[in-house]
Amino acid sequence: MHGGAMDTEQLSEALDQLDDRVVWDAERMLTQAVDLGLRARELGDPLLIARADLTRANLDMRTGDLVSAAQRVPDILRRAAELDAHALLARTHALWSTIYRHLGDASNSLEHAVQSVTLLDDTATDHMQIWHRSKLADALSLNGSLSEARAYYEKAVELAAAKDQSRLGLLVLNNLAYAECGAGHQEAARRVADRLREHAARNGFELTAPLLDTIGLIEIENHDYSRAEKTLLACLEQHASHPDDDADALPEYLLSLARAQRGLGAYERAQENLDTSRRLCAERSLGHVLVKVHQEQAQLHAVRGNFAEAFAAHESFFDAYVEMRSLEDEARARTRHAILQTAQARQDADRFREQARRDPLTGLQNRRYVDEVLAGLIASGQDLVVALADLDYFKRINDLFSHDAGDQVLVRVARVMQDEVSSLPGAFVARMGGEEFLLVLPGILPEHAAHLLERIRRSVDRHAWDTIAVGLHVTVSTGAAWCPGSSGNGFRPTQRDLLATADENLYAAKRTGRNRVFHDLPELSHPGPAAPPTGAR
Ligand code: GH3
Ligand code: MG
Ligand code: MG
Repeated sequence: MHGGAMDTEQLSEALDQLDDRVVWDAERMLTQAVDLGLRARELGDPLLIARADLTRANLDMRTGDLVSAAQRVPDILRRAAELDAHALLARTHALWSTIYRHLGDASNSLEHAVQSVTLLDDTATDHMQIWHRSKLADALSLNGSLSEARAYYEKAVELAAAKDQSRLGLLVLNNLAYAECGAGHQEAARRVADRLREHAARNGFELTAPLLDTIGLIEIENHDYSRAEKTLLACLEQHASHPDDDADALPEYLLSLARAQRGLGAYERAQENLDTSRRLCAERSLGHVLVKVHQEQAQLHAVRGNFAEAFAAHESFFDAYVEMRSLEDEARARTRHAILQTAQARQDADRFREQARRDPLTGLQNRRYVDEVLAGLIASGQDLVVALADLDYFKRINDLFSHDAGDQVLVRVARVMQDEVSSLPGAFVARMGGEEFLLVLPGILPEHAAHLLERIRRSVDRHAWDTIAVGLHVTVSTGAAWCPGSSGNGFRPTQRDLLATADENLYAAKRTGRNRVFHDLPELSHPGPAAPPTGAR
């Protein structure tokens, strides 16, 4: 644990170290991850915060809390994408892949594993270069593509050797052995087991209990029972001297040992170890291991000729199996539900955000949206024309026709304006409130803008207003302001300046007779054609 202050660099380093840990001590690492998360927040660095959140999600997964892990991932993925942080994206996809693997969803697991490798670049740690390839190989073998899987395992082994990551290389070999064994290639599995032993010996590593268990199981599958018993006794010894916090580790090792001893014909010893495993399963509520204990018990009874007991044990196995499957299904359903809920919440949030930036009556953007984007458009340095358009004598329309007719007018005017700007990329119309609209026209030549605003004025003036109410006529006054592209003198007005100019011009349009466009755009220096002030006629 780091006591004193940490800068960005140190925090980044500490997170990598935590994420790249080969030997896991979940509880201690969780404390560290929480601490690093707090420090990242103190520094206010969004990338470090997202990275700390991922470390946290990884630990959730490691400690079996798949639901929490799954809930964290989508948001981390989104932030990583926004930050274009390849290493973080790669790590997040790797976690996603593992979560899907636990869910039994082989194809999603593969898809994310592919991403976790595709995104590796020179920002990735050596650990990631090796481990993500090994995880992709796991996913490929889960999808039945063992030959492709082998290529990735071998590449990972090669990289581990080249990058001096021999402990990680050992784990890769372990996973390869496990994949060969699981696919029924026992001869190939045995060769990998031999490589595992050699690799450990060459690098001066003691084989850890989980590795010895893998090797023992392969020896059992190859009917090399006496070797398997020796291996598994060594496994138990290793476990006794370096106990890990996986509750199911010891009962699994005892079960493996019992299987080796049954193969040897050492039935008494097998029964003894099986009994111990069963007792631990009961004490620790390890339903999934207990299933295998029952299965082994049935086989042990059968080889000893105790067929009635074998049958009873088989029944216990079947019951426990069914129960385990339903518990597993439930847990998977819970995790899937959490994933869906998170996706739904994300969509809702996006929808709410979008809604909050639109005017409900006309469907146009609102003032809030303008405030979010206009300064950026000004700063972008392109030509920009904004125009405030205010309906003439709108109060009178409300009074003479109805408020409802007034609303319909607003909707129609909105549509006319929207239609006119829709062909301009990046242009939009906002309702600023009441009967005032803002047209935002980025990247447009000022003379084109003047033309377009005049066309809008005419469209409103000539619209078939009679279809709303007989005798209704609507006109609009517009004041525009222009912010030339920065190839000009380089001066950029503020949003406030720009809108104030538009407002002054709008006022001038009103004062000089309404139903006109007033602007200081080049080329067209004269205001729009004079027309008699019109409102409701
Ligand atoms: P001018 O030509 O000077 O702009 O005159 P005006 O009557 O259009 O301006 P004024 O600001 O006096 O009146 C605007 C009116 O718009 C007042 C208000 O009742 C009406 N109004 C504001 N929002 C809405 C709305 O959402 N629906 C309807 N129907 N009327 C609205
Ligand atoms: Mg008005
Ligand atoms: Mg007004």
